[in-house]
Amino acid sequence: MDPHAPCPCGSALPYARCCGRWHAGAEHLQAPTAEALMRSRYSAYVLGLPDYLAATWHPSRRPDPIPLPGRCPVRC
Ligand SMILES: [Zn+2]
Repeated sequence: MDPHAPCPCGSALPYARCCGRWHAGAEHLQAPTAEALMRSRYSAYVLGLPDYLAATWHPSRRPDPIPLPGRCPVRC
């Protein structure tokens, strides 16, 4: 995704300065607040980043495979 494009979470910040920071790079998986984490997980769904969703999902509740839009494991 273009790092200068608006973040998919709707914050109006560029992706690289918003959820992109938590998705990859030096601050990977370091979303500092519950809101930042939930925004980053929403953006991960939009962008199709199952590895990020898996890493931020408690193992006891994590489905396998991670359901993404257009990849429903059951019937959609
Ligand atoms: Zn965002």
